[in-house]
Amino acid sequence: MHAGQPAPEPGRPFLPGPTFAAPYHLAPDGPRPDTDAYGRTDNPTVRALEAAIGGLEGGEAVAFASGMAAITGALLAFLRPGDTVLVPADGYYKTRAFAEDVLGARGVTVRAVPTTGPYELSGVRLVLVETPANPGLDVVDLAALAGQVHAAGALLAVDNTTATPLGQTPLALGADLVVASGTKALTGHSDLILGYAAATDPATVAALRDWRAMTGGVPGPFEAWLAHRSMGTLDLRLARQEANAAAVAEYLAGRAGVTGLRWPGRPADPGYATARAQMRRIPGVVTFELDSAERATAFLAATTLVASATSFGGLHSSADRRAQFGDRVAPGLIRLSCGCEDAADLVADLAAGLDAALRH
Ligand SMILES: *Cc1c(COP(=O)(O)O)cnc(C)c1O
Repeated sequence: MHAGQPAPEPGRPFLPGPTFAAPYHLAPDGPRPDTDAYGRTDNPTVRALEAAIGGLEGGEAVAFASGMAAITGALLAFLRPGDTVLVPADGYYKTRAFAEDVLGARGVTVRAVPTTGPYELSGVRLVLVETPANPGLDVVDLAALAGQVHAAGALLAVDNTTATPLGQTPLALGADLVVASGTKALTGHSDLILGYAAATDPATVAALRDWRAMTGGVPGPFEAWLAHRSMGTLDLRLARQEANAAAVAEYLAGRAGVTGLRWPGRPADPGYATARAQMRRIPGVVTFELDSAERATAFLAATTLVASATSFGGLHSSADRRAQFGDRVAPGLIRLSCGCEDAADLVADLAAGLDAALRH
């Protein structure tokens, strides 16, 4: 709630509004150190957001225009032709597509590895993992993996989108780099696109800032301000989403016609022990399968509180059928993002959706 907020000053707002500037006024003899000069590199609203995110991640954050701008920037800044990179086989589909299509065409060897491993690390330069992975929700022990990756002389980057920095802090567990989408639970209002990368090593942070200044993927000040404002309720939202996911997972576990249930907060889930050990909060995302694409579509059509939408982590519950977006999953797999509605209302809506989908 207090991360990145300015020191209290009588007559000043808690969080100053966005500063809209392309150029700033310069002294006639040119830029002064510590004076903002140009919006692609200098913006006080973006700096305040970076202070907030960096404070929570336990490092220094560099904000990007989207999660993909942060992930592609981090990979391009640290990989050279001839390097080998490992990316999640069961993680965000655009990250894998970028690695295979764009990095592959530029002389980087790309191997897709399941989140749970095994990780074959000899000759590898960088390992990118997602935990919990989106959409499969598998979990990997970050401290153990960081030890193996560093012993092999490689870097560990963690996509922290699903967990958020209040769910887990990969830098404290040994990761060299965090990348994330701020579009999902971090900001949680389904009204902006944002990303960030974070690290503790000053040279790593400088490389990220140089990359962003050259390629230009900066967030706008209005998005940065909205994001910072929304972060004040992050812990409240995560707590409610986790409680709702627990109620939903319990209902789904007992429902005939539902298979493949995954939620790392359930003791029966394969990721439970690791998730409980390294995470402060378990995300509100639950996945399950119905036995066809048609049934999944019927479910999405029949729910009223659960919106049909392809994102997650928002205040409003939403769900989508992942196979249509290119995830390598069963045709009837649904990713359900539990929002902040009343738990009993949410379970009742889900039950009605499943009644409609499983009728025939
Ligand atoms: C959404 C998402 C991204 C991409 O973020 P954008 O803000 O949409 O560019 C990257 N990684 C994961 C795990 C995501 O869920």
